[in-house]
This record gives sequence, structure tokens and C-alpha cells, in this order.
Amino acid sequence: MRLKGVAASPGVGLGRILLYREPDLNFDKVVFSGVENEKKRLNAAVAKFKEEIALLAAAAEKRSGASQAAILTGQVAMISDPYMISRAEELIAKGQVAEAAAAEVAQGFEDMFNALEDEKTRQRATDIGDLKKRLLGILLGVKRLEWSEIADDAVLVALDLPASVISSLPMDKVLAFATEQGGLTSHGAIMARSLGVPAVTGLIGLMGQELKDGQPIVVDGSSGEIILDPSPEESRDYVSRRQAWREDQASLKIYLKKVAVDKDGTRRLLGSNIGGLADARQAQEFGSDGVGLFRTEFLFLDRATLPTEEEQTRIYAEVASLFPESEVIIRTLDVGGDKQPVAFDMAKEENPYLGLRGIRYYQVRPDILKTQLRALSRGAAQYGNIKIMLPLVISLEEVTFVKALFKEVVAELASEGLPHAEEMPLGIMVETPAAALIIDLLATVSDFFSVGTNDLTQYTLIADRGNPQVNHLCDPFHPALLRSLKGVIGEARKAQTPIGLCGEIGGDPRMLPLLMGFGLSKFSVNPASLARVRRDMSSWSLAEATDLAEEILTLPTVESVKARLKKALDQRGKTS
Ligand code: PEP
Ligand code: MG
Repeated sequence: MRLKGVAASPGVGLGRILLYREPDLNFDKVVFSGVENEKKRLNAAVAKFKEEIALLAAAAEKRSGASQAAILTGQVAMISDPYMISRAEELIAKGQVAEAAAAEVAQGFEDMFNALEDEKTRQRATDIGDLKKRLLGILLGVKRLEWSEIADDAVLVALDLPASVISSLPMDKVLAFATEQGGLTSHGAIMARSLGVPAVTGLIGLMGQELKDGQPIVVDGSSGEIILDPSPEESRDYVSRRQAWREDQASLKIYLKKVAVDKDGTRRLLGSNIGGLADARQAQEFGSDGVGLFRTEFLFLDRATLPTEEEQTRIYAEVASLFPESEVIIRTLDVGGDKQPVAFDMAKEENPYLGLRGIRYYQVRPDILKTQLRALSRGAAQYGNIKIMLPLVISLEEVTFVKALFKEVVAELASEGLPHAEEMPLGIMVETPAAALIIDLLATVSDFFSVGTNDLTQYTLIADRGNPQVNHLCDPFHPALLRSLKGVIGEARKAQTPIGLCGEIGGDPRMLPLLMGFGLSKFSVNPASLARVRRDMSSWSLAEATDLAEEILTLPTVESVKARLKKALDQRGKTS
């Protein structure tokens, strides 16, 4: 049986279904059973924890060697820490159930490790988080999926895989994934692309099918199709498609060492979109021209407390240190929409994408922005290549508001005698129709622009980027978007304000010649796409790209635009 969704991350994976369901670890309904009994429950759970880990560690050692096993046995050492147990028992004595006590103590450790200097120690925060979930699962009797037991041909199938879940998964063991929810630019999909894992999202009705663990499945992340129980012919066909995909990946390796130039030999800037240090390192390894977008909200996901100023300063400086020759554009927090960090405790909204999102959130929590601006100014004192970028701007006033806060922050840092940058380049994302329409005005308050097509598309076409019912409408090849992009790039150039593009479409081989033809020479894509974009870029001269872009602008529909682009790419011996 075939299902069609969104081609979220290219490539082919065929294997067996591994159903992923986020375990429900809510313990609100657990009733206190007396101090002694709760202590007994806690201690029994700790003993079971140790037993489970011993078994898993033995299996891990067999499968992947001593280092994997050491991570697990490290958790036993943590849970055996007498302070941890006695602190939990104290909380129980005050009337907390074992679950609440264990969660509170573990959280305290997790936050403490998160705030520490050295990365290895910070890694322990992840281990503690894992420990907490396992212990709660035991206490609540919830069966959890053991990652160490994942087969090598696992294809993860889930209702949704938000970024915070993916970052906690051993994705190197997963061949592909398929989800009912999400779209091309939902953050889970962005992460799948950066990990190079084929994925199809937005598969309406997927979880309503009779799915079983171990059931054969094909995921074609290039066409957006999945096949449940493929026939022998289909399997054969997809084995060879997977092979072709892997060969293509291998042939791209030479582009990892090249710089981005077009067919005329003109150098173009190709930076990376990152969500943290790991992506930044990957980008550096792949020769990225700096960072075009650092989504800093990823530092705030999956944790109960906000990252401190020190922690942020250290991370921004470390990322900047990796790209001494290039700019590192750090976007201030963009929460709301599909990014709702627990630490923010955000009020539920009917339309989160039209609500308190991006720069708007700073009006209610200027303190959070101030901490971030302090960290950015302090980081920039060490590395002058850091630039600030603001998300979801619709007006000049919003920019002026942030500039005023930055001034305050600078004055504070000066009075505290902390090294800081007095001034920093400040740019804005062009990702709302309002910003696109007043880009000439925004140019008076902005040092640079970056077009965010993920949002610009959903807001121009009023189609939620993560909603599978409408995300087929959320198509950047819509003539409205193409006109908008041409206008925005042209206006920015007229105002002599540098402009780049960091939306996901920048990595699409069909969009590349259009953007080049509209006059764009600065791009930022997922690090995993750098090599392919360099290859695509080198195949277009400016004249060819301009001719194609002009012709495309005369076409009236998404369909006609895509058909013409397909023809153009096919003629060049490429597939789209
Ligand atoms: C965008 O909207 O295009 C963008 C790059 O920002 P994000 O995907 O983080 O919303
Ligand atoms: Mg955006």
C-alpha cells in the first residue's frame, strides 16, 4: 500500500517499521502512598534501573564496543550517588510521590550540568535526562523503546518527531523516518536533512493504518512516497534506487572541498543554517562560508531552565571561532509556532503561528532577550565576525525596540567592566509579507537582510507549514512567492543592503537558478546540502539563470512553473 506525503529529506530507506510513541511520563495522577512506601517504591525502581542498565550495557558492548557501554554504566554511577538518593528521600518525607521526587532531583542535576563550561561534562546533562525518563518509566510501569535493541534496518514511524525528540534519538541507527504530521519546513524535517536521513512527513492517515513493528516499509524521501509491505518487485526497484542515491552522495564528496562558484567562475557565498555546536562543526568540516542562520532557540529546547548568559556567551564565541574568515549570523530567539520550549511556559494560543512568535515575544519577556543580547555582545568582544539577526519582523518599531535594548545592555556591561562589543551589525529576516513589502523602509534600520522563505511562503499563501491538510498549498514555486522574491532581492540591492536567503528552498536545485537570476549571491543551507548546492551552482551561468528566471516569471501557476523547471533541469541531465 502506498501513501503520499511531503518529500522532507531526500534519499531512499527500506527496512522494517519501528513504531515510535512518546512515552507518557505524566505522574500528576499518582497518589501519595505514605513516606515509607514511596521510599520503597523509589528504591525498588532504582534497583530495577541498575538491572536494566547492566543488561543493556552488556548488549551494547557486544554490539558497538566499550564506549557505548560506558555511557550506560555511567548512568548507574550517577543514580548510585548517595546525595541523589538522600535528596529524593527528603522530598518524599515532605510528601512528594517517588516520581515527583526523582524528577525534581534529576532535573536539578540536569540543569547544573547544562550550565557547566566543558562540553564533556555538559554531555552528562543528556545522560541525566535519559536517566530521569527511564526511572520515571519504571516507576509508572511504562514500557520504553530500547535504543540499544534497534535493528539495523529500522525505519522510524511516528505521529510526529519534533526536533527535541530527534535530538534525543540515535539517528545514526535509523534508516529513514515517516511521520503523519509535519511538513517540509517543520523543524523535525530540517533536522532529518541535516542528518542526511531520508524522511517523508505529512502522511495523512498514517497512524490510522494497521502498523506493526517489524513490518516492511519503503520510504522515498525524494518523491514523498512510502510503501507499506512492498512487493518483491517494488523492493528490488527501491534497493537499486537506494544504491543510486548512495552513489550520488558519494560522488558529491569532491564538492566538500570546493568553494561555491557559478559556471562563470564568480564566487558566491554559501553559508550554513545551524541549530548548535554540532551542526557548526559539521558546517566547518564541509567548508561552509560561515553561518547564515544560527537558530538559537534550539539551545532552549528540551530543557527546563533557560541557558545562562555564560553558557550562551561560550557557545556563540565557540561557533564564531570556527569561522574566522566569515560572518556568523546569530538569530535571536524565535519561539512560538512549532517551537515551544518548556522553560518558557507559553500560554496556549488558537493560532500560534499568528500569535506571540519571534520578535513579538520580546515585548513580554525582554529579560530573555536582554540576556541573549548580553551574551552576543560579550561573544562579539572575542570574535568580531558575529552578527545579530531578528526573526519575524513586520515593522521598523520592532527593530528600534531591540536596538534600544541593545544600547541598555551595552551600558550595563560597561558599568560592570565586562569585555563587550559596543556596536554589532544587526540584520532582519524577511519572512513576513509585511517585511517584504516595506523592505526599502526596513533598509534604513537594518545592516543586512536574510530571506526566510519557510515563513514567507506560509504567511503569503496563508497555509500552515506544519499542517498536512494544507501544506501542499505552502509551495514556494507559487507565482506570488516568486514575484515576492524577485521584488525583495531587487529592492534590497537598490538600497545597497546585503541580502541572503536562509529558507530551506535555497537548497532546492530548481529554485537555485531562479534566485541567481533574481540577483541573489548569498545563500545559506543545511550543512548536509552544501556539497550538492555547490555542484548545482557550478552548472549555471548568470546569463542562463537570468533567462530562465525571466521566463518562469511569466508563468501563471505552480504547476506550469514546476513543469518548466523540470524540463530545464532534465535537459541538463539532472533530476528534480
Ligand atoms: C524561515 O522562516 O525561512 C527560516 C529560515 O526560519 P525558521 O525556519 O527557523 O522559521
Ligand atoms: Mg522563520
